[in-house]
Amino acid sequence: MNITIRLDDVTPGMDRGKFIQFKKLLDNAGVKPLIGVVPDNRDSMLNIDSDEAAFWDEVNDLKSEGWTVAMHGLHHVYSTKSGGLFPLNHLSEFAGRPYEEQASDIAEGRRILEEVHGISTDIFMAPAHSYDRNTLRALRQNKFSRITDGFGTDPYEYEGMTFYPISENRNSCLDKLSGWTTFVIHLNTMTDGEFKWYEELFAKSSTPASGSRGGHTAIRSYSDYLMQPAAPRGFSGHVREYLLASAKRCIVARRAASIDKVRDSNI
Ligand SMILES: [Zn+2]
Repeated sequence: MNITIRLDDVTPGMDRGKFIQFKKLLDNAGVKPLIGVVPDNRDSMLNIDSDEAAFWDEVNDLKSEGWTVAMHGLHHVYSTKSGGLFPLNHLSEFAGRPYEEQASDIAEGRRILEEVHGISTDIFMAPAHSYDRNTLRALRQNKFSRITDGFGTDPYEYEGMTFYPISENRNSCLDKLSGWTTFVIHLNTMTDGEFKWYEELFAKSSTPASGSRGGHTAIRSYSDYLMQPAAPRGFSGHVREYLLASAKRCIVARRAASIDKVRDSNI
């Protein structure tokens, strides 16, 4: 399978040490990822390091190197408990809000990126993966045409937007022989074990003749994913995706609850 990499929560206050460490892995593998840049971050959880004056120049430099930039919301602050059309989480910056508010925030994000920082993009990355029909309409209205989200093995067209699916499960993706997906990475909370897992994945993918797990896996730049043709997705495809996202949310919530239970029993 062709695997692309997406780095969420790229802000002036991100954990720069982890960002630099992961960039080295990507550079060694010759892979250019998608980065989700928050135009005006107001989420204190994303402020690990102090604001870096050079941040926006660095984003422009990465773009010149071939990295792809997506707009990751406007403030990255959740104001509703709606899961929207892709309910991996029940919280959102956009889903569940009136169309006019969503359109205004998306226009403001685009304006900040373009007019203040000189960064243009037509790709949207929804905080918490949550968006609804009004979000899609507001995105179209503001000349966004692509979204990094959804489940599937190839890009698809839905409601006038092109979706570039993310992985449902990392390990099952490694067993698939064909298709495209994206591994979603939050560097601020990435553990040493996960760094090692990616280091090994990149090493395996550079030796495709190994025949073992990962032998038919290719780590590709995000710009290659954007070149793939998109097929229309109908109502039944959307329902299947909705149910898969709901099921995944339940599994993650149950796992978190059982960890809490173990913690409680240890008190
Ligand atoms: Zn985020």
